[in-house]
Amino acid sequence: MPANSPQKPTVLVAGAGITGLSAAWLLARDGYPVEVHDAAPTAGGLLEPVQFRGLPCDRGSHRIHPESHPLLRELTSDAGWVEQPRRGRLVLGGRQMAYPPQVGDFLKGLGARTAAHMGLNFLTRPGALAGFKRWEEDRKTIDDDVGFEAFVTGRVGRRAYTQFYAPYVEKVWGLHPNEISQTVAKARISTASPLTTLSKALKSGPVPDRVFLYPRGGMVELIEFFQTGLKLAGVPIHYDSPIGTKEVQAWKGPVLYSGHLSDLVDQPNLKHRGLYLLHIALPKGSVGQTDTFYLPERDFWFGRVSQPARFSDELSDDECDVLCLEIPEGRWGNDHDFSEDILKIQAQLVHAGIIPSTVDIGEMKQTFVPRVYPMYKRNWTQYWSEALRQVASMGQILPIGRQGLFLHCNIDQCVYIADEAVRHLNAGGTAADWIPKAKGFLDLRVRD
Ligand SMILES: Cc1cc2nc3c(=O)[nH]c(=O)nc-3n(C[C@H](O)[C@H](O)[C@H](O)COP(=O)(O)OP(=O)(O)OC[C@H]3O[C@@H](n4cnc5c(N)ncnc54)[C@H](O)[C@@H]3O)c2cc1C
Repeated sequence: MPANSPQKPTVLVAGAGITGLSAAWLLARDGYPVEVHDAAPTAGGLLEPVQFRGLPCDRGSHRIHPESHPLLRELTSDAGWVEQPRRGRLVLGGRQMAYPPQVGDFLKGLGARTAAHMGLNFLTRPGALAGFKRWEEDRKTIDDDVGFEAFVTGRVGRRAYTQFYAPYVEKVWGLHPNEISQTVAKARISTASPLTTLSKALKSGPVPDRVFLYPRGGMVELIEFFQTGLKLAGVPIHYDSPIGTKEVQAWKGPVLYSGHLSDLVDQPNLKHRGLYLLHIALPKGSVGQTDTFYLPERDFWFGRVSQPARFSDELSDDECDVLCLEIPEGRWGNDHDFSEDILKIQAQLVHAGIIPSTVDIGEMKQTFVPRVYPMYKRNWTQYWSEALRQVASMGQILPIGRQGLFLHCNIDQCVYIADEAVRHLNAGGTAADWIPKAKGFLDLRVRD
């Protein structure tokens, strides 16, 4: 790394999650003096591990997709990536099928009757004759927010909506889908028309997303990688040091802010929901080779169940099988104690076919992760634009990353945004010029 250049201003980086640390590293590489401040006592944010039985388990199922933005892997090529075949299972209607589902598996899994009903419902939905051009248009417009329910039923029909989409969003956001923005559907549901998707799938055969990338010792290795790099570059990281309006306004140079946007501006419409993680131990051999189970239906409190040992051998426990259950805050509030519910959880795991009825949950550790899912209520982008304008009026402050930009995005996308912000500073861009660029990040698609 070059020595700090005296002409460059010192940059304040708020947040030591993957966004803040990668931004600091890129700044230091470009010769900026940098200071990192994090509100928490440790680095990592959502990538800080949960210690369970001595293993550094991720905060829920985390993986890097092969088509992810290459910068993350370029910067962390020494982090010891392992490639893993993907072994996901989707639990639907009492059946398990491969995840992501291939068309054939999916139809087989649904059963002929349900599949036929869904197909008929799709073809006869209101507005079906309006053509498929609208999928392309949907990609661009976010100003007229018709809400999740109207958006999805108009595209896939009511049957598919009630079976998959409505239970999923109710579970994650704890709201009626009509109150939720259509942008949630756009970030998660393919904006290609179902016919395009189907014909592509039939032409291309198996879905290519069958491997994923993972740091051998867990996601925390990415954090440690940047921490080490920053230490060598002489960049200080201050913990227990929250950055608020007062601090950013007092700072003389640029600020890259990866803390929560709603902590910087008074905007009651940009709130989050939290997530409970339950790490549980089961007798060795209780769970098969699956890395993650996906459970969108209402029967299950958890939306995903992952098995750390299937992400890397280094996360394998010699004596037990370990699972991580993700239970969105939803109806629970933020202070529920799941230790009273072990038998119900066990029964749900059996019902989903994840564990046999003959085994009992041993140890369990509960972790509540606050502010995980941005509450994307209808028309939230208007409040978001207002919030970004307020931030820009405070000085040379660029909000970045998942929290700074109120995004539901992936790790590689956080690093890409950090890089874009550093390029923006290098080009002499202002905070006001950052807003249109930031708006472009709202179109990033989440990969699961
Ligand atoms: C359950 C789950 C599964 C996921 N799975 C995947 C996956 O498979 N693949 C993938 O690519 N991504 C996944 N993600 C997304 C990924 O974890 C996040 O996008 C990424 O870690 C966000 O990094 P960040 O640095 O932007 O935010 P955070 O990790 O939240 O870091 C923000 C940091 O800022 C600090 N902070 C907050 N406010 C302030 C303040 N005012 N001043 C100073 N510091 C502050 C916090 O303490 C924290 O350390 C998943 C996320 C979740 C929740």
